Amino acid sequence: MSQQQRQYAIHWLTGQFLNSNQESLYRDAIKTRVRFESRLVLLLVSLVFAMFGITDYNLLGLTREYYLLLTLRLIVVISCLALAFAVGRWGGYSRNVWLHALPLCILATGIMLIVPLRPDSLLTQITAVVVTIMGFYFLIPAPLAMAAITSLYLSIGFVTSVELFAEVSLADTVRLSLLLFMANIVGYFGLLRIEFLQRKQFALLQHEREQNNDLLEEIKRRKSLEAQLRMVAEKDGLTGVDSRNHFMKRSEALLERAQVENTPFCLFMIDVDHFKRINDTWGHTRGDFILTKIAEVCAQSLRPTDVIGRFGGEEFVVALPHTGPSDAQAAAERLKKNVEALVLADELSELRLSVTIGIAAAHGEDDNLDSIITRADNMLYEGKRDGRNRVVMCGEGMTS
Ligand code: GH3
Ligand code: MG
Ligand code: MG
Repeated sequence: MSQQQRQYAIHWLTGQFLNSNQESLYRDAIKTRVRFESRLVLLLVSLVFAMFGITDYNLLGLTREYYLLLTLRLIVVISCLALAFAVGRWGGYSRNVWLHALPLCILATGIMLIVPLRPDSLLTQITAVVVTIMGFYFLIPAPLAMAAITSLYLSIGFVTSVELFAEVSLADTVRLSLLLFMANIVGYFGLLRIEFLQRKQFALLQHEREQNNDLLEEIKRRKSLEAQLRMVAEKDGLTGVDSRNHFMKRSEALLERAQVENTPFCLFMIDVDHFKRINDTWGHTRGDFILTKIAEVCAQSLRPTDVIGRFGGEEFVVALPHTGPSDAQAAAERLKKNVEALVLADELSELRLSVTIGIAAAHGEDDNLDSIITRADNMLYEGKRDGRNRVVMCGEGMTS
């Protein structure tokens, strides 16, 4: 038997889950419905029990027996109504199952006590007892064991009451006992079947819910994996700016838009000066750290709408939408100054960094990103050749 089968196994005689946790879960799940149905049915049963007072009056008139019967019916009805209220409030099979047994016991006792008061209407009472037994099993919500115990209590009590107060032969008592026994058997196995089917349905639903939860968990896991993969593909692992591929994709879209909307677009190629020397002097790990700091300065010096990418090694590239050549130049100068002003901590405090920036602007509709990059790269090369730590704008020669 698999673990799942064991968890959902149902006892063949009680109709309950063998696993007590599972049974509690089931009982908790049906609590609201049980409360509502119990209250409704108890109101109905009280009404029917009270209505029999009319037939009592027809049969007995205003006699002592009638008043006794009326008192008995009132006690039963008031108790059942009080219990209907209590069950509606605190009922449920998981904790207060006894609360559900009380009205059944009171009803059963009331029916038994009618026999000595109306021994002449035995046939009606036997019919009422059989109907009540069916009611205990099928109408008033109760767990199977409780329905069976209270029905047996009613059956045995009624037969005893008949034997004591009504003059019936032994053969009739045996016949009556057999009839009530049969009613109990039908009720028991009928309710057993219902209990079994309801729990089976609950187990199926729960299993489905668990599978759905597993599926949701899996979807969540995959989504986070997807996000991680996207991050790896889109971001440069060291500096956190866009990877070269992602930069190209985003910038191409920005350039296209600029061309459609006829707005300016510029591009920077940035290269850290003498970076090899920095690596050689301070080591590769510190070199990496410096690259992250330069990426930070780039981000701080530019607008959030500008796209920064790592082109490779110690080269960065920036796309500046809605930016004309003069604004781009001003931004590059600002960036260059900020790198120059960058002071690092501890042993790197003596280090002065600089970058050379080549700028190219988009020319009309036919321009494309690769040629803009090539132009900016050429400007960068010029800046390097002319002494580094400078900004060079395409078409205008060296600017600083
Ligand atoms: P220039 O001023 O002409 O740009 O000189 P440079 O030394 O910066 O240029 P070069 O191309 O000769 O050297 C670039 C160096 O950058 C070489 C390489 O080891 C280093 N580099 C490339 N990628 C990384 C990296 O991810 N981390 C570190 N620490 N160094 C890198
Ligand atoms: Mg380089
Ligand atoms: Mg360099």
